[in-house]
Amino acid sequence: MKKRTIKSLAVAVLLASLLAFPAYRLSAVSKSTEVLGNVVGSGVTTLVRGLLQGHVRNFKDAIKCLTYGSVSGYGFYQSKKLVVTDHVFSGILLANLSASVIDNVTSGEGPLSYIGFSLPLVRIEIATPLARQKRSFLRVTVSPRDAISLALSFSKADRVSVRNGMLVFEADKPLANNVMGWTNSLFPTVLSGSGEWVYQHEMVHVVQSLQLMAASPEPFLQGHRREEGKASFLHFAGFRMQAIGLANDLTMAKLQSYTKYWREAEAYSLVQSK
Ligand SMILES: [Zn+2]
Repeated sequence: MKKRTIKSLAVAVLLASLLAFPAYRLSAVSKSTEVLGNVVGSGVTTLVRGLLQGHVRNFKDAIKCLTYGSVSGYGFYQSKKLVVTDHVFSGILLANLSASVIDNVTSGEGPLSYIGFSLPLVRIEIATPLARQKRSFLRVTVSPRDAISLALSFSKADRVSVRNGMLVFEADKPLANNVMGWTNSLFPTVLSGSGEWVYQHEMVHVVQSLQLMAASPEPFLQGHRREEGKASFLHFAGFRMQAIGLANDLTMAKLQSYTKYWREAEAYSLVQSK
């Protein structure tokens, strides 16, 4: 197959899987649907991301992306379970680890070559001893999408604090009738006086945002490897476009009604079933 054919196929599979993402009803979400959605969803998007970034050249590469993507999908599922059972920081760490594995295998690296953590605006990746020919020990990428989300969160909130290592916004007025919380990318906002479950629900959305970040092909980011010479300490690798997150916001969030929207269905079901 020609390279262009492979790429168009990859885009087609990605779009199809996005559209086919379980449009289940709130009441019909079962645990196995959730696990399967995460495992298959991350498995397929990891394969497509690897293809689009030019790091799937043979069958072995494809299996590597599918396998590690699926494992990471299960990792995302477990991190959501941790978040709703009050282990928020562990959940966020596991979600970042799962995203790192996907970032690595879709960039032609070993699954644990780099371990990343998303801070507001930047994601920092640290090279582990498993990273070969590394450009730098610390790799930094910037997300314009997160910058917009951060500004939006500030504009609608009255207070901000750090909780479990993450920024949490608090608002005195609801965004709309009966809305007790909302999340823009990595930034949750809860209505003051709302129950703990609202915070947990919003933190599930934060994990979902990390999952969508990991699913997004980033063909314009600079690679991890240097040609020659010594590794530098810090390397700025470029901007993350997070196209999948954007596509999701523009399509799924609008096409599916609130109660059927996969992000809401999953968050409600996880909080209810803990
Ligand atoms: Zn929600």
